[in-house]
Amino acid sequence: MIAIQQLTKTYGHIQALSGVDLSVQKGELFALLGPNGAGKTTMVRIMTGLTRADSGTVLLNDTDISRHPTDAKRQVGLVPQVLNLDTELTVYRNLDLHGRFFSLPRDQRRERIEELLAYVELSDRAQTLVKHLSGGMKRRLLIVRAMMHQPRILFMDEPTVGLDAAIRRRVWSIIRRIQNEGTTIFLTTHYIEEAEYLAGRVAFIDRGQIVAIDQPATLVRRMGSWAVDRLVDNELQTECFPDRAAAKQAAADFPGRVTIRRVNLEDVFLDLTGRKVVEE
Ligand code: ATP
Repeated sequence: MIAIQQLTKTYGHIQALSGVDLSVQKGELFALLGPNGAGKTTMVRIMTGLTRADSGTVLLNDTDISRHPTDAKRQVGLVPQVLNLDTELTVYRNLDLHGRFFSLPRDQRRERIEELLAYVELSDRAQTLVKHLSGGMKRRLLIVRAMMHQPRILFMDEPTVGLDAAIRRRVWSIIRRIQNEGTTIFLTTHYIEEAEYLAGRVAFIDRGQIVAIDQPATLVRRMGSWAVDRLVDNELQTECFPDRAAAKQAAADFPGRVTIRRVNLEDVFLDLTGRKVVEE
């Protein structure tokens, strides 16, 4: 459904993307995980036709976005990182304008809006001004706005950024439902838990390059499943082990403070890049 080859992009002397290749299958939920500034938004902007790449190709359902931008754009919905709703208009009107943009007839717009608002439990807010919605409600509205024209691929750029844990989980269940109904989802995130929970496959991006692509569990297994964190001279040192017994043994042998836990994608990212996804 998405095929990217040798994508590059520079901003002045900053190399935002250097030779990115990846492909996403129909119906997949694919996550691009990386720290701030890694190139995630740049990739999404290129794939949705908002920015042009310097070189490389993007095929969306076999349509080349640089050759047939209008056809390609019809296939995609974008949930941007920034809340770019029209806050002075009602919830209904925001969705209606989006439907008009894609030339949906009036009756179809009304039907679709009712359906989508019910989907994210915002039906009773249809006539509320967007500026009076909570942060979580705005995020849910942003997601269904992107679905107005029934895109085959949904791009979500950090869809839960800034939300508290409970609301984030609610948004996750909406994302899962959208995927279960057959939409291909490409999501960027710097939340480890989000990628682990949602994604069928994950790509790690660091300084504009893809450093690994696989299923989360496979990436984690490469390191070993259990980690031991030790505090040595006030510095956290982590070692990974294939099983819990080996981790327990290593912990028992260490005289100072120690924690045993499951290996996560953060450990894998750190191992591959020497950097953390979330800088402290
Ligand atoms: P974040 O999660 O913080 O948005 P990101 O992984 O999405 O990070 P990008 O926004 O794609 O990263 O940025 C990649 C690099 O390109 C960064 O060094 C950034 O400063 C630079 N960059 C992005 N957009 C522009 C622009 N319009 N002009 C100049 N530099 C840019």
